[in-house]
Amino acid sequence: MKLILLGPPGAGKGTQAKRIQDRFGVVQISTGDMLRAEVAAGSEVGLQAKAVMEAGQLVSDDILIRMLGNRIERADCKRGFILDGFPRTVPQAVALDALLAGRGMKLDAVIELRVDAPALVERIAGRFTCSKCGAGYHESFKRPKVEGVCDVCGSHEFTRRADDKRETVQARLDAYERQTAPIIPHYAGSGSLHVVDGMADIDQVTAQVMAVLEALPVSAQV
Ligand code: ADP
Ligand code: ADP
Ligand code: ZN
Repeated sequence: MKLILLGPPGAGKGTQAKRIQDRFGVVQISTGDMLRAEVAAGSEVGLQAKAVMEAGQLVSDDILIRMLGNRIERADCKRGFILDGFPRTVPQAVALDALLAGRGMKLDAVIELRVDAPALVERIAGRFTCSKCGAGYHESFKRPKVEGVCDVCGSHEFTRRADDKRETVQARLDAYERQTAPIIPHYAGSGSLHVVDGMADIDQVTAQVMAVLEALPVSAQV
């Protein structure tokens, strides 16, 4: 299964990607998580990306295309992958087509999560994650079952992303409209685009996403 989860910052891509990963056993590739790991490691890419990310802008296509190309070479991608946060520009979408074609692969589906701007701002402002396992939470919409304890790994430590500040959110939403939304027609033409109402509750969004995936040919579901 080879999927793209598309949608503005805070739409729920990461949340749904983890559920698809658990259900179908295909890896989630989050370019945001990969970049944050580079920043934390203080690598050359991390040093270049840090300020750009904190300003809510997009890191250069060159870096991202190279990073994704290396990532999908790895053995855990043999059965497929869920791209979460890539492609984000037209050149990235074009490069992905070439990367896949070069490996004799094709996308099974592109799922666009539609969420309106006020809801995105609220989702981003309340987002936090487990420092240990990366499980995602929200102050209002997805609190841990036991206050202060991660549902998944039991950790008591949580973090917030450096770019999840109200001041940065508008820049990220603008970047989405200007640079990412133009890739939607690229996929609409190929018949692989499925639009899901991302405004619904987390479980209802999952139900819609799973309905799309279950309707794919059996060959795409393995
Ligand atoms: P979000 O949760 O807002 O969708 P991500 O975790 O996917 O954010 O990405 C965080 C930041 O990392 C982005 O604002 C951008 O600076 C950078 N980034 C992630 N993926 C890409 C990409 N494909 N192209 C350019 N920049 C990216
Ligand atoms: P993205 O990866 O698209 O940036 P996330 O999956 O991190 O988005 O979700 C952003 C925030 O909104 C998280 O705090 C998450 O718990 C919460 N969230 C995700 N989906 C929903 C939903 N359908 N309804 C309400 N909150 C949601
Ligand atoms: Zn955890």
